[in-house]
Amino acid sequence: MKLYQQQELHIYNSISKTKEKFTPINEGAVGMYVCGPTVYSNVHLGNCRTFLAFDLVFRYLKHLGYKVRYVRNITDAGHLENDADSGEDRIAKKARIEMVEPMEIVQRYTVDFHTTMDQFNALSPSIEPTATGHIIEQIQIIKKILSEGYAYEVNGSVYFDVHKFNAAHDYGKLSGRNLEDMVANTRELEGQSDKKNPQDFALWKKAEPVHIMRWPSPWSDGFPGWHLECTAMSTKYLGKHFDIHGGGMDLKFPHHECEIAQSEASTGVNPVNYWMHANMLTLNGKKMAKSTGNNILPHELFTGENDILSKAFSATVTKFFMYQANYRSNLDFSNEALVASEKGFNRLMESYRMLPEINASTESNFDVSKWRQSCYDAMNDDFNSPILIAQLFEAAKAINSTKEGKTSLTQSDIEILQKTMHDFIFNVLGLEDTANIQSNDGNQLADAVNILIGLRNQARANKDFATSDLIRDQLQEAGIQLKDGKDGTTFSLN
Ligand SMILES: [Zn+2]
Repeated sequence: MKLYQQQELHIYNSISKTKEKFTPINEGAVGMYVCGPTVYSNVHLGNCRTFLAFDLVFRYLKHLGYKVRYVRNITDAGHLENDADSGEDRIAKKARIEMVEPMEIVQRYTVDFHTTMDQFNALSPSIEPTATGHIIEQIQIIKKILSEGYAYEVNGSVYFDVHKFNAAHDYGKLSGRNLEDMVANTRELEGQSDKKNPQDFALWKKAEPVHIMRWPSPWSDGFPGWHLECTAMSTKYLGKHFDIHGGGMDLKFPHHECEIAQSEASTGVNPVNYWMHANMLTLNGKKMAKSTGNNILPHELFTGENDILSKAFSATVTKFFMYQANYRSNLDFSNEALVASEKGFNRLMESYRMLPEINASTESNFDVSKWRQSCYDAMNDDFNSPILIAQLFEAAKAINSTKEGKTSLTQSDIEILQKTMHDFIFNVLGLEDTANIQSNDGNQLADAVNILIGLRNQARANKDFATSDLIRDQLQEAGIQLKDGKDGTTFSLN
């Protein structure tokens, strides 16, 4: 029996605005599409939060025993500066400024993105398609939408006819907007475009003579609209109707709304059963933005090279911090919050590492089966990682009090605790025990620290307290904390 047959997962569906029981279209299998990065700059921490939110979803679905096909694209063309249909292509602009080939920009920032995701120990998606690798599929969809009468061609460009689509379908059902309001709130900009209505969006844009990234099509040499690539790639790899579509909250409108319209116009089918949106990461209460300097990049975090930070933080601690908030809540990043998360993570890991040292009793004071189910309940409730983490701390408390001899655990409970904590900490949350050195025999760092502890003991025996304090203080500065106890000195990494 698979775990998913025992656990009832509920997902908050952005389109119904309620938590719904998750039932995949094909039993035992899940198709999930997540909008990937536009690779024209280094991935920032806010983007990382979105991708880590879906890494958690991917990991938990796999943990439950589902066969998951997770498609996350790379946008390497067609994403214009203003997210709509005007301005320069973001990648082409960066290439022009740096006087390099656009594909050099794509390569550089794709590598940066993959490196960062690896540092965060995020799993690779099952398929990572690129927009430029699917121009033919995009042209086919445009032809289909034209033949269904929901698009029109003007001067070599093709636009989606939102008003005509809305007459037969519901444009705005995901974002909760309605077309009449959109019309009332739109200022008509003079001579701005060939569109019939400002709400229409481009499926194909004729390239200006200076535009480098261009492909032949029946309408013009040009490039596809940004919204179209996700429809083309999700349909190609997951079919016209699939289980989960995710992305950042800011993509709900217009990007995802346009995806729904394109799919319904071309296939007649509602493409997605569960829409999931991850919330923003702010910095000191304000939106992260490169222009204001209120911004932090992952590598600055890992090295501590940013004035906002008092020290460096590991990727695992950063991830632990992010998962202490639900993916749908806004999360504010600050040095203080990270320091607190680091302390919490270290406490949790210290307790986890103590488990093998606990002596089993004939009785348990801690209901391990109930606790284990509470961990699942947390994740079954729309991937509620903060509640899961609170449950992990409950286990840590039980371990500590048993270690202190105040409570007891049976051997089989110790084993369930060990396995469940391992599953949730490492497989589901995808955290890493960066300080897992004390229990790791033959580890060179542990050996080296133990040599220093030996020298310090010698110095103390010789009443050379200046040297023993120096060793303790300098280790402390290097992030290694010595603890003197009745069984000798142990250490932990800060
Ligand atoms: Zn997308």
